[in-house]
Amino acid sequence: MKSVDRHLAEILSTVRAPAPLELDLDQALGTTLAENVASPVALPPFDNSAMDGYAVRTQDVAGASEARPVTLPVMDDVAAGDGATYAVGRGMTARIMTGAPMPGGADAVVPVEWTDGGKVRVEIRRAPEVGYAIRRSGEDVRPGQVVVPAGTRIGPAQLGILAGVGRRRVRVVPRPRVVVMSTGSELVPPGSPLTPGKIYESNSYMLVGAVREAGAEAFRAEAVTDDPAEFLERLEAQLVRADVVITSGGVSMGAYEPVKEALTPIGTVRFEKVAMQPGMPQGFGVVGEDKVPIFCLPGNPVSSFVSFIIFVRPALMKMRGLPSGPPETVEATTDRALRSPKGKTSYLRGVLSPAGVVSPVHGQGSHQLGALAAADALIVVPEDVTEVPAGSTVRVIPL
Ligand code: AMP
Ligand code: MG
Repeated sequence: MKSVDRHLAEILSTVRAPAPLELDLDQALGTTLAENVASPVALPPFDNSAMDGYAVRTQDVAGASEARPVTLPVMDDVAAGDGATYAVGRGMTARIMTGAPMPGGADAVVPVEWTDGGKVRVEIRRAPEVGYAIRRSGEDVRPGQVVVPAGTRIGPAQLGILAGVGRRRVRVVPRPRVVVMSTGSELVPPGSPLTPGKIYESNSYMLVGAVREAGAEAFRAEAVTDDPAEFLERLEAQLVRADVVITSGGVSMGAYEPVKEALTPIGTVRFEKVAMQPGMPQGFGVVGEDKVPIFCLPGNPVSSFVSFIIFVRPALMKMRGLPSGPPETVEATTDRALRSPKGKTSYLRGVLSPAGVVSPVHGQGSHQLGALAAADALIVVPEDVTEVPAGSTVRVIPL
């Protein structure tokens, strides 16, 4: 059997990020920047007031106190956005608002809270130091400074600074578009009546959610029956909008395995046994003219989910132009003994406490979606370990 590490390594050496494109900032959240963005301007662009108050020459108010206030005439009102040029002469002051440009001559702002708030004359009851409450031009960003380097995931703060330096469009690695397709003649969509022999189709909802959480765009294709010809036809129709395809079901050892039957003859998708539980049968390869990567995951819901976490998510990270590799793990103490089949890596579903104790959930079958939904961690038991005593340190993948 193929090891989990080797399977992942093969996947990561196959997938690559889609070509960068220019997007409007409003479309860029969650993408990865594909250029170094340097600021054409200084931030702040001009010296401005950090507070509502009075622009003063510090010499004029030196020694001002509650007991001995200094009274100055108010010559001007300077508001944020005011483009006029002002100057504060000796022995004078201007009322100034947060964000308004500092008038010439003034070297500090007296916060309104230190005054009587006068409009014609103002009584100042405390003396500021030189530079007090002034935001200096360029103190945040110098002109020419790279504010967001290539390779950065664009989150809300990055959108803020990109807009803040005047950018409207940015070159990014777009979110990969992922088509999710379930197979199985037993599947009916949730929300419709359940007839004998049928089950609700749940994998596509789970996988679409997982894809979106992994920062990619997901499209759900309608589930297909176990007819290989139908599967192939529907797959081809989806390829135009896919950077990746994920199928579930139809890859095991039984009869009526449409994914395996349809794709094996094409020769570009390999169906293999990977030494893991759940998730042993795995298909991976490329399809279509554009060699779109395809993950053919097993149908059992927990197997599908675990396969996504172990193989698909790292691939999506790489396709987003982000660092990728095996899922990150943390150490925890298992509060119960664990068992694992020899020669397979187990991913047991567990609940991880803030104190670092992990407890396997009841119901470790690969069909037990209810138990999966109650878990928030996967406990990793390595290939060569078959028993883990209670109280042992284990590695877990937080979900
Ligand atoms: P398969 O891999 O197609 O043999 O499916 C394995 C098991 O998973 C069967 O019990 C299927 O009914 C179930 N299964 C397959 N696909 C889905 C799906 N999309 N939603 C829920 N259960 C599924
Ligand atoms: Mg099936």
